Amino acid sequence: QAKQKGRNRHCFYDSAMASQASNALKIENALREAVKQPAFRVVYQPKYDLQQRRWRGTEALIRWQHPTLGNVPPAQFIPVAEQSDLILHIGGWVLNEACRQGKIWLDQGVDFDKIAVNVAGLQLLQPDFINVVKTVLQSVGFDPKHLELEVTEGFIMQHPSSQIKQLQQLQDMGISIAIDDFGTGYSSLSYLKRLPINTLKIDRAFVDGIPHDADDVAISRAILTLGKSMGLLIVAEGVETKAHAEFLRAEGCDIAQGYFYSRPIPPSELPDVFQSASPG
Ligand code: C2E
Ligand code: MG
Ligand code: MG
Ligand code: MG
Repeated sequence: QAKQKGRNRHCFYDSAMASQASNALKIENALREAVKQPAFRVVYQPKYDLQQRRWRGTEALIRWQHPTLGNVPPAQFIPVAEQSDLILHIGGWVLNEACRQGKIWLDQGVDFDKIAVNVAGLQLLQPDFINVVKTVLQSVGFDPKHLELEVTEGFIMQHPSSQIKQLQQLQDMGISIAIDDFGTGYSSLSYLKRLPINTLKIDRAFVDGIPHDADDVAISRAILTLGKSMGLLIVAEGVETKAHAEFLRAEGCDIAQGYFYSRPIPPSELPDVFQSASPG
């Protein structure tokens, strides 16, 4: 009886895993077509300076609308793309697109500090990544001081010293380096000190519980204290409420990003947002 049950359960997992695998394959095949067109677009989420009470910068986020699969979220297709060289094409395309758009905004007189672009671990592992970035900046005519690259904490911790040189070179070019989803990746604090980074982004899982959840409050405070003592800029992700924003401002957090300030928007809408009165 128990064995029977066990076997059924086993079958259930097998078929769930098989359908997951075939789904990934479906996405991968569709992505191979999508990169040729390319069928992606980039939206931009404004970031708000909590202390100076002004719009500050933006994060580039990829979007993919497929004719039959519909709107596939990046959380679904980026991990698939990371299993192959597809991420190199996609990542390079987003970088170029974001810098091109940034140049247009600067020429229009939009006052922004930096555009942040997410970089997958596999991109950073390419020995020619520095040259890819240099080529994009040169061909677009975009000043590296307006570019920030977001790398996940998990990646940095998996790849100790060897990749740090790449980050250092990027930083030496004037590009800012941010650690994304900070707090989820078990960083060793002494190690963090030696990394060439400018910015820490507090993961939205911790911001979510502010100000009611004592653990989330403690973790957010700890990240703020640590980051500040290391001279880093602190960005909070997933700021959805006034209560989130007020707590973070009082705790000295520099920048907020989240639905309370703005959703990710098409590039045509950003200049108006940056002109608009500050939401507080
Ligand atoms: P991320 O880099 O941490 O980006 C922030 C994500 O949080 C975005 O989801 C954004 O839309 C969402 N978000 C922003 N404010 C709020 C909020 O107040 N509440 C909630 N619940 N969510 C908020 P999105 O655009 O779906 O992207 C998900 C992830 O996919 C990104 O997380 C990033 O890891 C990855 N991704 C997106 N675009 C790219 C890209 O061009 N390249 C790479 N390598 N990864 C990307
Ligand atoms: Mg990011
Ligand atoms: Mg994040
Ligand atoms: Mg929580």
